[in-house]
Amino acid sequence: MPSTTWVHGFDRLDEVEAGLDGGWDSVRGLLGGKGANLAEMTRLGIPVPPGFTVTTRACLSYLDGDGRLPDGLWSQVLHALHAIEDRLDKRFGDPAAPLLVSCRSGAKFSMPGMMDTVLNLGLNDETAKGLVALTGDEHFVFDSYRRLIQMFGTVVLGLRDELFENVLSDARHVRGVTSDADLSADELRTVVARFRDLAAGFPTDPAEQLRMAIEAVFSSWNGRRAVDYRNAAGIAHDLGTAVNIQAMVFGNLGEHSATGVCMTRSGATGLPGLEGDFLVNAQGEDVVSGTRATRPIEALAQVMPTAYAELQAMAAKLEARYHEMQDIEFTVEDGRLWLLQTRDGKRTAQAAVRIAVDLANEGLIGRADAVRRVTPSQVDFFLHPQLAVAARQQAADEGRLIATGLNVSPGAAVGVAAFDPDVAQRLAGDGRQVILVRPETKPDDVHGMLAAEGILTTRGGRTSHAALVARQFGKPAVVGVGALEVDLVGHRATMGELVIEEGDWLSLDGSTGEVYAGRLDTFVPDISDGWLATLLGWADDLRTLGVRANADYPADARRARDYGAEGIGLCRTEHMFFQSERLPVMQRMIMSDSVTERRDALAELEPLQRDDFLGLFRAMDGLPVIIRLVDPPLHEFLPTFEELSKRITDAKIRLSAAGSLDEVDDLLGRLRRDEDLLRQVRALHESNPMLGLRGVRLAIRHPEILQMQARAIFAAACDAAEEGGGPRPEVMIPLTSDAGELIRARQVIDSEAAAVFADRGITVDYLVGTMVETPRAALTADKLAEHADFFSVGSNDLTQTTYALSRDDAETSFLIDYLRTGVYDHDPFSSLDPDGVGLLIDRAIAAARTREDDFEVGVCGEHGGDPASIAWCHAHGLTYVSCSPFRVPVARLAAAQAALATAS
Ligand code: PEP
Ligand code: MG
Repeated sequence: MPSTTWVHGFDRLDEVEAGLDGGWDSVRGLLGGKGANLAEMTRLGIPVPPGFTVTTRACLSYLDGDGRLPDGLWSQVLHALHAIEDRLDKRFGDPAAPLLVSCRSGAKFSMPGMMDTVLNLGLNDETAKGLVALTGDEHFVFDSYRRLIQMFGTVVLGLRDELFENVLSDARHVRGVTSDADLSADELRTVVARFRDLAAGFPTDPAEQLRMAIEAVFSSWNGRRAVDYRNAAGIAHDLGTAVNIQAMVFGNLGEHSATGVCMTRSGATGLPGLEGDFLVNAQGEDVVSGTRATRPIEALAQVMPTAYAELQAMAAKLEARYHEMQDIEFTVEDGRLWLLQTRDGKRTAQAAVRIAVDLANEGLIGRADAVRRVTPSQVDFFLHPQLAVAARQQAADEGRLIATGLNVSPGAAVGVAAFDPDVAQRLAGDGRQVILVRPETKPDDVHGMLAAEGILTTRGGRTSHAALVARQFGKPAVVGVGALEVDLVGHRATMGELVIEEGDWLSLDGSTGEVYAGRLDTFVPDISDGWLATLLGWADDLRTLGVRANADYPADARRARDYGAEGIGLCRTEHMFFQSERLPVMQRMIMSDSVTERRDALAELEPLQRDDFLGLFRAMDGLPVIIRLVDPPLHEFLPTFEELSKRITDAKIRLSAAGSLDEVDDLLGRLRRDEDLLRQVRALHESNPMLGLRGVRLAIRHPEILQMQARAIFAAACDAAEEGGGPRPEVMIPLTSDAGELIRARQVIDSEAAAVFADRGITVDYLVGTMVETPRAALTADKLAEHADFFSVGSNDLTQTTYALSRDDAETSFLIDYLRTGVYDHDPFSSLDPDGVGLLIDRAIAAARTREDDFEVGVCGEHGGDPASIAWCHAHGLTYVSCSPFRVPVARLAAAQAALATAS
């Protein structure tokens, strides 16, 4: 049997591809993202230091096999190492021509900083001496050597980094310098000796170093921070990591050497052009750790113009190959540029949208690809709050703009300061909004970052850990606020006189980098122009499913239209009755003993409703407006039994102590009103109000309510038409379960319409339809369709009635346990249940479409804004979904993605 190939040279990509099904995705699965890209870069002729990848399969085999390297792996590693030696004419462990290698993790999906890396493997006292002889640069050699022992000590031997940092800070202190680079070669030699004492298990045999480093990287797949990250990012735990062994190139070889990271476009805004940081005479981790002040990548153009120009050319080449913005690690060794890594760059939601649109406009991808690449949650991010302009101004005037740092992840975050990730997590668990404030973040802080609303660090650059993680998870972040001094022990931060204690409010703007003391107001941004509008325009061209809005007031309707709604799918008219000045009239209507009294109260409400409807027709001029008749049971407009009982008891107590006749009169009046209300509440009481006198049943029991609403709708439609508008009223009857109900309600509506049109001398086209929100409505949809012009699925009630689950109680009661313990795999009130509720909807659609090919069937429950449910609605031929105005942009994108998914 042929032995397994555990190791592939970077120059062997063709062979790897030939041996795998499943294309690039399988290559990434086997070699990890980093390894696959190193091999691909090698194939593209990009200068990559030679190396090889130990596969993810080897990692899984190691983790499964009690920590033993799989058979054959080690000999393959040595063989691949020889190939590098031959290519560079250097030998691993040979003082005469020492080869040094790096050993880096690299999983299928990028997990920045979550797993381990060891650099400079191959150094020991002898090879160090040999390297000094070769380079003549003792400083460089001992700096590299101390880095090896420090990394090996922490990563492989599990020692605390502080032990090493203390030695370094002692050395800096003695010398009176602030940077390790300023230590002399002799001092570094002493540091190395002290490090060797600390890391007693450090092996001097280079092969042993390499073997132990590979094993440590394998094991880091199951380290806590990697597991936490995978849980948060939704990455599977059974993928394993590959290990990349690569010849070292040195950015710390003097003033003609540098190291840096850059994105091919801005990860914060998407602006084209290189964005990143670099350091002259340094090694990679100096840049990403944020421990040294980096320089912006543009400055490389001055310092090393040839390398900069070459980097720009490589960036364009890589984008052309990957059709994506790339995040590149590079080193300049003695003037020569090397690329160490490329991967798809992490980005903010804004950058994701702009990059997708720009790449399509540049012809690197198609418009459909651009629409596919942006996630519904990235669109949703645009609807997240920003700091209100007035609040920002006022805070600035009051001197509460305390600092400005780097704007690395946009959006506003407001919360109380927490200086420790565990505290942040605890406070957030108590329902508090938190800003995590740290000198810099490390992978171990991720749980606190995820719990926080926003992140603030005093060190680090645009590519620091804090910036990357914040962007990925859409957390607003400001980093590098150097003026702020964080005291981790005292749990406070200071800046001159200013002291920020744990629990103090902070507001930060990740788009401008501003940090304010106190709690500032926020607002939701306008999305009507720019890149998102373009992207959503492309989405509109691709989708077939309509998107309408659930809007009750003209202002909501206007916002919905701005967000791209193609009409109103649901106006819940009862919401208009709940307004404070209307509620007493509504209550009088409910309390009235005679039809005449009721009509009087309704007559007061009618002009108000008519105005509301006119506002909706104006806002949605030319587009359909579905107005639903009043739906909830009448007792919902009255105070509760408990509230009234308390009010009555209080009034009686105050009556007994009343001092004046006027007071007695007043209290008696109120008491009588409340006693009347209580009688009504008792009379209207139902054991199961959700199954009681509501929806169409109310319209049939009290036709005068229906008449009033119908008149108001048609009168407003006539008003709008007279103004020159194009009103398209659609009257919707709720909670129908029998065709008989629909017939009666429709008669009233049609006769009111005829009366209004006769009176006004004009006619407006209108539709009358019904909601489908009971199983019986769905099952008898053929009969309903005879009397309805359209159906709209009330998926909230249909879920409730199909499952016999109370929509008001279940989600705070046993449903939580059902979801936690996996009895249900999803919450049917959030995401449409395809198996039961979906079957009923299918039935209703089929019945309706037997009558008329394009019979309109929409969904207007909460599911209308849920991407998974939207995909279902597209696949099952719904006409439109209707959701809250804020979810309309998400629905437009999700509908387009659903269309693309079914087309491919
Ligand atoms: C529904 O039931 O899905 C619906 C849209 O109506 P409401 O939520 O007002 O009951
Ligand atoms: Mg309903």
